[in-house]
Amino acid sequence: MVKPPVLPPICITVTGTTPNELLQNAQRALEHSRVVVLRLDWLPDPSQGIRVIRQLLESGPKRPDRAPLLQATCRRQQSGGRFRGTVAEQIKILQEASAAGCALVDIEIESAEKSSRESVESLGDRSLLVLSWHSFEETPYLEFVARLLQRFSADYYKVVSTAKRQSDNCVALEFLRSANNSWHKRWIVFCMGPAGIPSRALALSRGSAFIYAACPGSDGLAPSSSAAPGQIDYEKLSGVYRADKLTPVTAIFGLVGNPVGHSLGAAIHNAAMEAEGVDAVYLPLLSPDLDGFRDAANRYPLSGFSVTIPHKQNILSLLDRLDYDVRMAGAANTVRIRRGKWEAINSDVDGVEKPLRSAFQLSDRETLEDSFRAVVVGTGGAARAAFVALRKLECRKLFVAGRTPARAQRLAKDFDATVLPFSALKHDRFDLMINATPVGMWPKTEECLLTPEQINAHVVFDMVYNPAETTLLKTARKMGRKVISGLDMFLAQAARQFEYWTGLGAPTQLMRKVALRELARFPKSGADG
Ligand code: NAP
Repeated sequence: MVKPPVLPPICITVTGTTPNELLQNAQRALEHSRVVVLRLDWLPDPSQGIRVIRQLLESGPKRPDRAPLLQATCRRQQSGGRFRGTVAEQIKILQEASAAGCALVDIEIESAEKSSRESVESLGDRSLLVLSWHSFEETPYLEFVARLLQRFSADYYKVVSTAKRQSDNCVALEFLRSANNSWHKRWIVFCMGPAGIPSRALALSRGSAFIYAACPGSDGLAPSSSAAPGQIDYEKLSGVYRADKLTPVTAIFGLVGNPVGHSLGAAIHNAAMEAEGVDAVYLPLLSPDLDGFRDAANRYPLSGFSVTIPHKQNILSLLDRLDYDVRMAGAANTVRIRRGKWEAINSDVDGVEKPLRSAFQLSDRETLEDSFRAVVVGTGGAARAAFVALRKLECRKLFVAGRTPARAQRLAKDFDATVLPFSALKHDRFDLMINATPVGMWPKTEECLLTPEQINAHVVFDMVYNPAETTLLKTARKMGRKVISGLDMFLAQAARQFEYWTGLGAPTQLMRKVALRELARFPKSGADG
């Protein structure tokens, strides 16, 4: 039997709880990749999937370099799938799938161990045999898995663990490299779970034979409808992370925090890096804590990263060099790693300063007038960045309003500001009012912290950037006030990060275009409706 040609690197996994649904999802997937994995175990009767395989092959292109390459998977419930039948029934379905023309069949090690070597290896007679091992709990050291799998002869060995922290991805990627070096076999290795996304994006660059993606448009699906936790939409894996173009020397950047899933950072930084010809990728580096993070960063190795909630303060203990803004703000959001040293800036400060210079028509050297009055609403990390920026602009009349008096007093002390109760906002006049709270952020876009009577400033700056125009800004605009969107801040701070990491000017027009496109993907809610 002639085996199929070299496989495209990204396969799309599809599910369906009826044959028709499986067929339609597979047809949609085939518009993007020639290799589609059919999860037959999602069907109440997986043998009905054989008809779907035949239909897909009969209706697809016939040219050998264009014809669909289908993989059949019928994972048993005991191994994390949905199939409730016996191992013998599972093997029979896979044999039928192979006979129907599937280019690959996947069987898990637990089933192989319960079956005879002949019947397992016979699955590779007509199709490429993938022998797989999964852990849905953890990423242990994986050498023992290699020994388990290699007791059987197979075309590919697939090792899929679960990442709880970034070091788990390093374990998987290091194992992948050494497995390919030692055993001259084709290995497929990555981690599941949202923390495992970097391992999926980097797997091909470290020699994984191929990698699995979800069908485009599945990002918003409920977890129950995706085939595996953390599986990345094909368009994102291929178009945003460029997984099939990365190499072992591609510089790795990312966003460290928890959560990191809804950030615009990946879309805009990857687009900027690609446009400027920088061989780099920017990935979500979900990190519930920073234990062992420096070690993981060295092992990837990371060239730098952004930091978000809840690590902007605790990252300081891992840094070698802090600039003035970081020391003033007591927080960092951007780290650059050079010759093993971790250097940090707080680009949120630039993110505030730049739009303010533009709104008040200040050149790089000019500062605010002595009489300028600014009030910041909110007392968290972003408020601190705003105070650092205002101090750099030599604003002398600073005010803070916050719902937790102790935090407001602490800020007032650190930045020589005056604490105001919210009620005082009605009676005072300001040149600038900054919202540094998350109130009004998607999905609660109808919320607004301030009543029209409290919006007593010539310029109103909302740090919330999703949506780009919040209810606060809409109200202020209607009242004839000048407004600054959090999106301007977000883009200014991202541009500063790009420059800090690459030494190049940031493609700001492109970054804005990409950010607006990403924001448009969020379903409209509340006041936007
Ligand atoms: P943070 O450290 O958690 O601080 C949030 C602040 O908002 C705290 O003072 C909190 O008060 C206050 N707050 C929250 N809900 C409130 C409510 N319902 N009423 C009154 N006050 C409320 O967060 P952060 O890092 O400072 O970020 C604040 C906002 O700025 C977020 O929306 C974030 O997305 C945005 N931001 C935007 C950019 C950008 O580039 N555009 C950059 C950084 C941050 P308590 O202390 O009493 O809880």
